[in-house]
Amino acid sequence: MRKKHAPETSFIFVLLLTLSACSKSSEIDAPAGDVAADASIIGVATPYAESKLEMKLFKVKDAPIYYVLGFSGVPDAENEGHTSNAGFVVTDAGVVVFDALGTPALGYQLLQRIREVTDQPIERVILSHYHADHIYGLQAFEEHADNPPVWAQELALGYVGGSTASQGEDAERRLAQRREALFPWVDENTHIVSPSNTFEDEMDFEVGGVTFMLKHLGPAHAPADSIMLVKNYGVLFSGDVIYKGRVPFMDSPETDTKRWLRGLDYLAELNPPPRFVIPGHGAPSQSVKEAITTTRDYINFVRDAMGTAAKNLVPFEEAYNATDWSAYQDMPAFDGSNRGNAYRIFLEMEAEPFK
Ligand SMILES: [Zn+2]
Repeated sequence: MRKKHAPETSFIFVLLLTLSACSKSSEIDAPAGDVAADASIIGVATPYAESKLEMKLFKVKDAPIYYVLGFSGVPDAENEGHTSNAGFVVTDAGVVVFDALGTPALGYQLLQRIREVTDQPIERVILSHYHADHIYGLQAFEEHADNPPVWAQELALGYVGGSTASQGEDAERRLAQRREALFPWVDENTHIVSPSNTFEDEMDFEVGGVTFMLKHLGPAHAPADSIMLVKNYGVLFSGDVIYKGRVPFMDSPETDTKRWLRGLDYLAELNPPPRFVIPGHGAPSQSVKEAITTTRDYINFVRDAMGTAAKNLVPFEEAYNATDWSAYQDMPAFDGSNRGNAYRIFLEMEAEPFK
């Protein structure tokens, strides 16, 4: 339940805002469990809309690398669209940001967290892929951080002006949906910021003595799915190739679960293995092999169930109802995503022998 705030209590917000701005980020290896929505007390003014969320900043131990964690579940008014993770790396020559969150207001709050840590300019923003929950925050960087270069894998260009559902979601239709579901944080002034720079398969770059690697692992859940490895520190930002603690989103004609599984194998075989993994959704992990488990097991489970049905010409409805979903049904996003996922995989498995 959201609480309405009387105007005369506004000064309390300002006070709380000042206090919270002074609080330090937590230096931890991994937060205990999932972050809980506590939307009840603090109202944070942004140039876009007031936010009632506390965006807590976490720091990777022994590294100038920070991240914020979205709530589990699908974007709605309760979580203000804060369902994905994002992070940044501070160097002597600027800040490298990975993903920009799901509304301009959230992007602005991420920028505020960055400013609490460093005055360095934003050197670039890298997008794991182009889906609403990761990119709408770019607008805040464009308007309040000197419009830094925005990097994504080249298939992300298809998101803007692309064909219908070209990126697993129709950009215009998604924006219209979010203007309703996430108003006032997404409104008529919200716009999509396109990538200014792209890479193809793999790209190394260096900022302030820190070496980064970007690697395309898609199309997995979206065409441009890519990861960022911060080599000096062994920290992996996996984007949505890894979902933790919730049912992954696969309900898209662009989802390619076969390639997705190959991408997970690639991550499991990274040598040396990353010491810290920040997924696109869910809690971070100190083990890649542990981090990929939910996503890989779920994909395999749905592929097995729907693949057998498709092979035996069992209609989807019948196959879906006959499948024992008990291992996943209590997971966040199950109700919103599982049936659509299963149907997509069913179609994918039907088509697979002809590919
Ligand atoms: Zn996502």
